Amino acid sequence: MTVQSFFPPQRTLMGPGPSDIHPRVLQALSRPTIGHLDPLFIQMMDELKSLLQYAFQTENEFTIAISAPGSAGMEACFVNLLEPGDKVIVCRNGVFGERMRENVVRCGAHPILVDNAWGESVSVEKVEQAIQEHPDAKVLAFVHAETSTGALSDAKALGHLAKQYGLLTIADTVTSLGGVPLAVDEWQLDAVYSGSQKCLSCVPGLSPLTFSPAAIETIKARKTPVQSWFLDQTLVMGYWSGQQKRSYHHTAPVNTLYALHESLVLLQEESLTASWQRHQQMHQQLKQGLEQLGLTFVVKEEERLPQLNTVRIPEGIDDEWVRNYLLRQYNLEIGAGLGQFAGNAWRIGLMGYSARTENIALCLKALEDALTQCKR
Ligand SMILES: *Cc1c(COP(=O)(O)O)cnc(C)c1O
Repeated sequence: MTVQSFFPPQRTLMGPGPSDIHPRVLQALSRPTIGHLDPLFIQMMDELKSLLQYAFQTENEFTIAISAPGSAGMEACFVNLLEPGDKVIVCRNGVFGERMRENVVRCGAHPILVDNAWGESVSVEKVEQAIQEHPDAKVLAFVHAETSTGALSDAKALGHLAKQYGLLTIADTVTSLGGVPLAVDEWQLDAVYSGSQKCLSCVPGLSPLTFSPAAIETIKARKTPVQSWFLDQTLVMGYWSGQQKRSYHHTAPVNTLYALHESLVLLQEESLTASWQRHQQMHQQLKQGLEQLGLTFVVKEEERLPQLNTVRIPEGIDDEWVRNYLLRQYNLEIGAGLGQFAGNAWRIGLMGYSARTENIALCLKALEDALTQCKR
């Protein structure tokens, strides 16, 4: 049998990512591939860098996109900043905080855990206590927007706290970038990574990353080489910096970078503040509709992410049946619960281009139908 071309259906993506891709981003993706050392491509990369600086609200010279998904951005922060024996305060209130802990251990460093329950944000008081108990800690690591639970943490307070005690910060902004306020410089964050496929509404596969001058100094002062060749950012610095002649490190994912460039142009056209407002407004609309259906939120109101709505699955409703029904009947994807929330919560994403009135109307109609059908 000859395998035919693959034609995926047009789904509406309202899960934890990937989100719906703007048609302009898909068009950008299909433009002609040029060499990754082509002068025009290098120009495009320089623009991409300044667009990322805008999105992150930073003037950090080292602001790039790693040629791999968000998890690689996470790993890049840990492997570059940490050396064996270092102590790291890791805030854990969901899946991604736990993944940070694993990264610390794999670097030969020591994690000091600050736990909060799933669905809660990181407690700034607990973090301060941990820092006081471990004055030799080098880094504070936390997730700004915990996609596994839908909780938002106070990255500004955590950033300032870390600086007050002389710690570097590693901040996961994979789901927050573009969706909720984030100001890397003002909040004094040091190593910050994100993902292309959440509120930026680009295709998956890239991880925006920015390092502060303090993070760069720490990396340059390393006594041991970074154990990962691919993620060693000292080797990539030359490749992304405009001043030096660009040298080969790895083949850049040329077309995917066009797509990220276009998604950031879209963000610039809309403006960051307008994008944050849109996510908040769409969240309020969705919230109203979900509550009318009798669904309740897992996270308390003040700590909720607008772009990731975690709701409890009502008693007697079959999780998998409902999600399959939405996919089959409405071409609509919502997210399953993860970890502790598997089987008892849904995660409804309103990220980037998915955060639109039409999507909310579809989602509410589809859920109402599914819940009625399931109860029969
Ligand atoms: C999605 C996500 C990641 C991982 O990103 P991938 O692109 O899936 O590797 C990390 N952290 C958070 C908070 C995320 O939501």
